[in-house]
Amino acid sequence: MAAVDRGQPRNAADNRARVNVMADNIFTKIIRKEIPAKIVYEDDRALAFRDVNPQAPVHILIVPKKGISRISEATIEQEPLLGHLLTVAAEIARQEGIDGTGYRLVINKGAHAGESVPHLHLHLLGGRQMDWPPG
Ligand code: AMP
Repeated sequence: MAAVDRGQPRNAADNRARVNVMADNIFTKIIRKEIPAKIVYEDDRALAFRDVNPQAPVHILIVPKKGISRISEATIEQEPLLGHLLTVAAEIARQEGIDGTGYRLVINKGAHAGESVPHLHLHLLGGRQMDWPPG
């Protein structure tokens, strides 16, 4: 079985680079309320806001307030936070009235998936019939 990255420090320069990416990305600015967003949910660990380029009638991004640039960087210590993001997504789906019809949760990681913002985010998509496999 493959070992899980336990988030051990790699080296100081690498850590500083990762912190800077987290500090400067657009979602961090939304969390700090430095740029506007249509926020639909907030608690001490997570923020959710409508995607600026929606791919479905409901398209909401759920982000951790700190600590994770992408899913491959998540550590075992962050498992409770990852679980929290999922239950927040389910709660927002109920709020949005799409629990009955269904929805899709997506995490894009890396170039092949089209990841464009280096701050972990779950896409909550719903309000229309989805295709499978995804494009
Ligand atoms: P991904 O391609 O998985 O990295 O998703 C990034 C998502 O962020 C895309 O769906 C963008 O439309 C969305 N996005 C980028 N900038 C903003 C913003 N300022 N407010 C809301 N959504 C954004």
